Formats: sequence, structure tokens, C-alpha cells
Amino acid sequence: MGESNIIVVGAGIVGCATAAHLAKEGQDVLILEAGDFPNPTATSYGSGRIFRFAYHEGEKYFPLLERSRERWLTLDESTSENVFVTTGSLTVSQSDGDTFTGALETCRVHDIDHEVLDAETVNDRFPAYELPDEVSSGLST
Ligand SMILES: Cc1cc2nc3c(=O)[nH]c(=O)nc-3n(C[C@H](O)[C@H](O)[C@H](O)COP(=O)(O)OP(=O)(O)OC[C@H]3O[C@@H](n4cnc5c(N)ncnc54)[C@H](O)[C@@H]3O)c2cc1C
Repeated sequence: MGESNIIVVGAGIVGCATAAHLAKEGQDVLILEAGDFPNPTATSYGSGRIFRFAYHEGEKYFPLLERSRERWLTLDESTSENVFVTTGSLTVSQSDGDTFTGALETCRVHDIDHEVLDAETVNDRFPAYELPDEVSSGLST
């Protein structure tokens, strides 16, 4: 093995993405992983994760999410595996709760297609739910 000029500690999704990008830039990268690879106790282990544009934590994250989407699409195109699937998302909380109001604010500020649904409509359209009346939902696409 040749000498590596960069060492990445941890081969979870962040370490692997970092190492992959550094390698593409021509760096010699060594990844150190304390567990198995892939490591079933890593938090990124498993078959699926979601990220959403209707981000309730704050609309300021939107540019980061756009960048993330670009990177996932690039990864998806560069492999025979289908690693990125676009879906809508349903954000559910009390009508005045931060989760609902924050997601709605992000949709409005960034012009994201969305619908505001009352509990009855959600229950009709998505039969897995039995939401009480005081809950509102934002469906973003
Ligand atoms: C059940 C669950 C569901 C989640 N769902 C989502 C979701 O839907 N959307 C979302 O955005 N986020 C989600 N998250 C959070 C997200 O998974 C984590 O933020 C993300 O996986 C962190 O990735 P990571 O590469 O930093 O860490 P990890 O995937 O945990 O990888 C860290 C790696 O570093 C290794 N390591 C640690 N210390 C050392 C050391 N000293 N030497 C060598 N190796 C070391 C560990 O063994 C591990 O393999 C979820 C988390 C969990 C647990």
C-alpha cells in the first residue's frame, strides 16, 4: 500500500463521501474504520434514509439541501444501483407546532410545491394515518 497523505477516521456515510471526493481530486486517502465495513452499528447503516426540502428546522438550510440533491443525483447516475429515489413528503404536527410552521415557512420562502391538509383529508388520502382534528399537515412534492 502506498503512503496516504490524508486519513479519514470512520467509514460511515460522511467518512466515505469525504474520502471519495478527496480521491477524485487525486489525493491518496486512507479510511480507518473501527468496526466492520459496512458497519451495522454505524448510524448511516441500513437500506434507506430521507432528506426533505420542507425542512422545518429553518429555511436557511435550503441551499445545503439543494447541494445534497445534486450530489445524490450525480452518485445515482454514476452507478448501476438506484441509490436516490424522489418522493413527496408529509410533515405532520399540531397546527401551531414548530414542525408544521417551520416546514410551511420553508415551502413558502423557497417556492416549493406544497399543499396544506387538514387531519380528515390526510386520513382519507393516506389510510395508514388516523390523525386527530387538531393536527395539520403539509404535503410537499
Ligand atoms: C435510526 C436512525 C435513523 C436516521 N434517519 C435519518 C434520516 O432519515 N435522514 C437523515 O438525514 N439522517 C438520519 N439519521 C441520522 C444520520 O443517519 C446520521 O446523521 C449519519 O448517518 C451520520 O453519518 P456519519 O458517517 O457521520 O456517522 P456513522 O454512519 O455513524 O459512521 C461513523 C463511523 O465511524 C466509525 N468510528 C467511530 N469512531 C471511530 C474511531 N475512533 N476509529 C475508527 N472508526 C471510528 C464508526 O464505527 C462508524 O462506522 C438517522 C440516524 C439513525 C440512528
